[in-house]
Amino acid sequence: MNRLIKDFKVSEVIMAYYEQDFKQMCNLCKELFPLSDKIIELHVDDKNHKDIIYKHRMMVQNNVIIRENHTLCRLCKENVLDIEAHIQSKKHKDIMSLINKLIEKDGMFLELPHNIQKRTEVHCTICDSSMEFTLEYVREHINGLRHRRARAMAVQPFNGIFSVEGSDDDLWCKICQVYFENYIETIFEHVDDNKEHNIRLTKILRLIEGQNIMIDAYLTNPTEDRATCNKCNTGVACNVDNLERHIKGKRHRS
Ligand SMILES: [Zn+2]
Ligand SMILES: [Zn+2]
Ligand SMILES: [Zn+2]
Ligand SMILES: [Zn+2]
Ligand SMILES: [Zn+2]
Repeated sequence: MNRLIKDFKVSEVIMAYYEQDFKQMCNLCKELFPLSDKIIELHVDDKNHKDIIYKHRMMVQNNVIIRENHTLCRLCKENVLDIEAHIQSKKHKDIMSLINKLIEKDGMFLELPHNIQKRTEVHCTICDSSMEFTLEYVREHINGLRHRRARAMAVQPFNGIFSVEGSDDDLWCKICQVYFENYIETIFEHVDDNKEHNIRLTKILRLIEGQNIMIDAYLTNPTEDRATCNKCNTGVACNVDNLERHIKGKRHRS
């Protein structure tokens, strides 16, 4: 019997060494090769192998699995004959786009399966939990109280929102200089639906893009009112006018 000595990874694919025959196998192509690093390198560059990786990755990203005698799309919950045609079908595309919209609206805290050897479940980075990769499970997770609490906490440092000293009932938005009530719903209203807030924040983010200016401290420290310009090694009052003036200034441009 073959004994597995070690696995190692070459661009997502496990190649396994077998002691007995001095052979190694590509787990995707199910091909055996003599034990040699050069041969692995050649195989990894081989067109057939690349096509198989492409196909498997596409399956992982679309939650299509091969069972013993059939191929199943777990998003659409139906058997498929031609994987590529199915993935291009309207029904499948609609479900994928509903999932993507949910995640996008939610601020990208959920990661869909992407690579062959990684998990095949959806991972929520703020709840540190996983769920089945289907529209129903993603929706249920996003609407769940645990996730909404975690998200309400997670969005604050990206939005300059702070708790108010001596009060659990109020929050303060540094960008808009307003107070509002500390409820999950009001936080989401402020960061998702409040146009003024988003315009102000987006203006600042656009201005500093590619300028080596950081606003992390401004967004996370309630008493910090300056951005840091790493290029000029100086602080700049964090508002649109001052940032603009600094970026156009001689010192910064030189
Ligand atoms: Zn292969
Ligand atoms: Zn499907
Ligand atoms: Zn979550
Ligand atoms: Zn605001
Ligand atoms: Zn500067």
